[in-house]
Amino acid sequence: MNHELEIARSRLFAELAESLGERDGATLDAMRRVPRERFVAPEFRTLAYCNIPLAIGHGQTISQPFMVAKATAALDLQGDEDVLEVGAGSGYQAAVLAELLPFGRVVAVERIPQLVAMARRNLNNCGIANAEILQSAGETLGAPDAGPFDAILVSAGAPGVPHALIAQLKSGGRMALPVGDRERQILTRVRLTPRGLITEDLGACRFVPLLGDGAWPDRRM
Ligand code: SAH
Repeated sequence: MNHELEIARSRLFAELAESLGERDGATLDAMRRVPRERFVAPEFRTLAYCNIPLAIGHGQTISQPFMVAKATAALDLQGDEDVLEVGAGSGYQAAVLAELLPFGRVVAVERIPQLVAMARRNLNNCGIANAEILQSAGETLGAPDAGPFDAILVSAGAPGVPHALIAQLKSGGRMALPVGDRERQILTRVRLTPRGLITEDLGACRFVPLLGDGAWPDRRM
């Protein structure tokens, strides 16, 4: 890594540690182990450690590091869980989750075939073996055949909490997802308890839309 990138990286992690607090140390350590510059296009490499989302092609973005940290920490992972990510994009978020799961695994679904290929390549380049990228099946959300999961992280904004994803959560499971309109959302944590769903508001965010049944229609169709 060149010197400028290293300086930007130290600055970013100092900023994240300050805004997230001690409790999320494990998440930040996992993020420190994943070279974000390998998940962005060569022309954005110098911006890899700015706290901003970056274009990854096909109208999609790799999420802002702050949001990756917040959504990841919201899952309270212990290290041995089965975790689903919906919207693998570049594979960066899946790599961060995989780093937190020495005894668990990540299944990440993506609808755009070129991004499926990109995410697989990026994870492979980083030597991450406990994350699998699946091409999503039609309009069905998630990966019903690979579940149920202990935790689900949705990397795209939904109009509500999709029933299809709740159905893929184990009892006691947690899900972090952006809920709102197509432009702005609230990062939301949902916990499936024996007494029902507990929903918490974790703050404002902006994600690209989640497309499919129970989410937004694809405007190109
Ligand atoms: N987590 C990614 C960022 C993804 S952006 C990263 O770390 O790079 C959100 C992604 O969700 C886009 O790639 C988009 O194609 C995908 N997406 C949207 N709706 C989806 C669906 N129903 N199933 C799977 N992927 C979906």
